[in-house]
Amino acid sequence: MIRNQDAVGSIPTIGLSIQGMKKMQMPTHFLFGVLIAKLFSLLPPTFPIAAQILLIAVLAVISHYLLDCIPISTYHPYKAHWDDKFFKIFHIVYALALSVFIFIWFFKDYWWVMLFSILPDIIDWYILRPIFHKDPLVHPSIDKVRDTLFSWLPDLKEKKWAVVNEFIIACGFVVGIILL
Ligand SMILES: [Zn+2]
Repeated sequence: MIRNQDAVGSIPTIGLSIQGMKKMQMPTHFLFGVLIAKLFSLLPPTFPIAAQILLIAVLAVISHYLLDCIPISTYHPYKAHWDDKFFKIFHIVYALALSVFIFIWFFKDYWWVMLFSILPDIIDWYILRPIFHKDPLVHPSIDKVRDTLFSWLPDLKEKKWAVVNEFIIACGFVVGIILL
């Protein structure tokens, strides 16, 4: 069954549906994926390219699990507040505009990594739900990981200042990407 808060969290945008309220934002996923790929540039050139691609793809998907475990401590209101200016600006600028910018910026070398970093979202929110009207397949397993390992995180979803937490994480990834 599709839970109510998921349904409320779905917003139509550029022909797709972003599940923005419950899961980490797309720019953060993209940046973590790019950082993982950049880390592999530290490996000796003799490391087989096929193994690199496989490992990066797997780690990018795992990174999605990790990030989707922590939005409870970032600004992700239980319901979409489109009448609220802060909510609107945050989601249009960060979730949407910055996603597009980052995807274009890193497209040449990392388009496939970024796609793997949001693969669970593509499967659940962009294919299963809108096209086949099915329940999410991957995110219930992410929920289990979160409930098992990250239940100690404080619930800051309704706190606007908690956007800072997501910015800190994203900025950490950016610093890592620049340094590598
Ligand atoms: Zn997700």
